[in-house]
Amino acid sequence: MLKLEDTYLHKGKRKALVALLREKGIKSESVLEAINNLPRHFFFDSALISHAYEDKAFPIGEGQTISQPYTVAFQTELLDIQQGDKVLEIGTGSGYQASILHLLGAEVYTIEYQKKLYEGTKRFLGRLGIHMNLFYGDGSEGLPSYAPYDKILVTAGAPIVPNALLKQLKVGGVLVIPVGDRRRQTMLRLTKKSEKQIVREEFDWFAFVPLLGKDGWKR
Ligand code: SAM
Repeated sequence: MLKLEDTYLHKGKRKALVALLREKGIKSESVLEAINNLPRHFFFDSALISHAYEDKAFPIGEGQTISQPYTVAFQTELLDIQQGDKVLEIGTGSGYQASILHLLGAEVYTIEYQKKLYEGTKRFLGRLGIHMNLFYGDGSEGLPSYAPYDKILVTAGAPIVPNALLKQLKVGGVLVIPVGDRRRQTMLRLTKKSEKQIVREEFDWFAFVPLLGKDGWKR
């Protein structure tokens, strides 16, 4: 079993990454602090570990990726996590983004569509001593049994905003979701002002792996 070590070298690289994210426009000190405190290399395959502090997405198996740090920071900043927020993440992947949400004080529910990733990440987070609520299934339908949520984060590119996700948000809640075609998506922040009123804000383009499932892309 791989020994998890966080050396001065890793810490130094993380500091440089945080400085880069700041330069690229990330302003939230709490988000930058969480990225500075969480060893991203723990979430990497041993063959790729030397790349862990590059501002890039990397493969995590099953054709999926750990998101680029800038993307993680951008989406997390849009969510504006408050201590105790109940947050649903669609697309657990490596568990890195979910761990950032956890470090920020959220009560995290996260769902993954690829069984092998779900199983591996569940085991790994247990080893790290990070306890959150992990599920295997189609997150394009949300996770109705634990709804409503203060915040919902989709970490895969969706063709549409799934209705189920808006339904499962509390009034006052926020959904952050990249929507577009298979190649690139616009980051959206949807705020549920009342049961009938949704305020929609559009941000930059990003390139995510596709959201699959009922309200996602067909394989
Ligand atoms: N948040 C992840 C991390 O920190 O490593 C990165 C996510 S990766 C860019 C997108 C993830 O969404 C993949 O693991 C993929 O299997 C998952 N996914 C795609 N469609 C899904 C669905 N319908 N329900 C749940 N997860 C889904």
